Amino acid sequence: MLTGLSAFEIAAKVRAKEVSCVEVAQAFIDRVGELDGQYGAFLRLAPEVTLEQAAAVQERVDRGEAGLLAGVPIALKDNISTLGIETTCASKILEGYVPPFNATVVEQILAADGVVLGKTNLDEFAMGASTETSAYQLTKNPWDTTRSPGGSSGGSAAAVAAELAPVALGSDTGGSIRQPASLCGIVGFKPTYGRTSRYGLIAFGSSLDQIGPLARNVEDAALLASVTSGKDPRDGTSLPNPPIDISSLKSRSLKGMKVAVPDEMFGDATSPEVQAVIEEAMKTLEAEGVVFTRVSIPSIKLGVTTYYIIAPAEASSNLGRFDGIRYGLRAEGKGHIDLVEKTRSAGFGKEVKTRIMIGTYALSAGYYDAYYVRAQQVRAIMQQEFAQVYQDYDFVLSPTSPITAFKIGELNQDPLALKLLDYCTIPANMGGMPGISINAGFAGGLPVGLQLLAAPLEDESVLQAAYAIEKALPGASGRPPMP
Ligand code: GLN
Repeated sequence: MLTGLSAFEIAAKVRAKEVSCVEVAQAFIDRVGELDGQYGAFLRLAPEVTLEQAAAVQERVDRGEAGLLAGVPIALKDNISTLGIETTCASKILEGYVPPFNATVVEQILAADGVVLGKTNLDEFAMGASTETSAYQLTKNPWDTTRSPGGSSGGSAAAVAAELAPVALGSDTGGSIRQPASLCGIVGFKPTYGRTSRYGLIAFGSSLDQIGPLARNVEDAALLASVTSGKDPRDGTSLPNPPIDISSLKSRSLKGMKVAVPDEMFGDATSPEVQAVIEEAMKTLEAEGVVFTRVSIPSIKLGVTTYYIIAPAEASSNLGRFDGIRYGLRAEGKGHIDLVEKTRSAGFGKEVKTRIMIGTYALSAGYYDAYYVRAQQVRAIMQQEFAQVYQDYDFVLSPTSPITAFKIGELNQDPLALKLLDYCTIPANMGGMPGISINAGFAGGLPVGLQLLAAPLEDESVLQAAYAIEKALPGASGRPPMP
């Protein structure tokens, strides 16, 4: 079936003219229409846009000019701006907002002859780890539809796992690509901060946010990462480095690879069943020549606490632009202040309001030094500690998520437990490091993700290592039960 193919396979078939771009696009549109009622992965499709783009790509294919993503339909998290397609961040406050421009990543996808399939569900403004704070709908985990797909890129992860899209883009501020990838048994990659343009990504925590791919294998994730990276003059934090180069993706051997395993990400930090799967995978990799060394990175323990100062502080500033005047929802009010208050009161959900309040508090005159400045100091220490580790080791390995997919609603009453889900993923955002999650095996029939981190700008190496690890763990691939 067309919809079961990888992005690489689809592009190859399109280039070989075994199938047309329009047929591919239509197959995915039909499949989403048939099955997404069970998953709730997509907030919306835009079939007219998708088919028009597919027809335009086909003309280039016919002229022999097809790009790397020839005819590959791509699902986009709904915080990525799409020209002419409503973009809501799963928030009521952006209901009806149709961006007048494409995010740079969307332009890059179109330039590589990919096609936009639709917009996927997320936690409101990407704040959450279960996709349950979406103002519109719940998303279900394809491995067990009573369970959460994780979050905040839960819609993108569920779409790829259920083969509703070959690949997707998500965003990762504290783990939102890697954690849902882990819970849905797929690959999720967060590039080095600055390697992928944030232009057109609706901002949450600007010093932490990064767009990245979700895919069913490392090769597809690498392909999409290579297309969506490189210097962008429209993003002031974009790095001058060239796009991620995947030409040597398959060249790396596991033999002699030096991997640090931080004590702080095992033991109490992780459930016994997740730990058992990761340890089993480590044994297999050890037999292939990987050298594991236990290390201590003490600041890891402060990651979640520090993140929940910095991310809300930045969010409280970024979300100031939603005032009922410039975008989306506008409530009736007597005068300007009343209008803004009523719009925000009706438009933002509880989690978003909580974060704006925490962030505003942490940045206020009396508390700025006590909270925000100290959090930035801890962030600097964490960066130094990781830099030290990377002097002696190629990578840092850990579980991605401390637990497997949990029941929908199970963690709602326990905000701390929900926040601790990002314990292992947050350091990558704090340090701007590339990080990838790939499936390592199963516990109780649910996928368990393994995370690999590397020093900033080592995107190519981390993808190469993940590719080799994926090959060494064949038992870790699998498909969820599908109708
Ligand atoms: N779960 C974290 C949060 O709620 C991270 C979210 C993200 O990476 N966007 O903030």
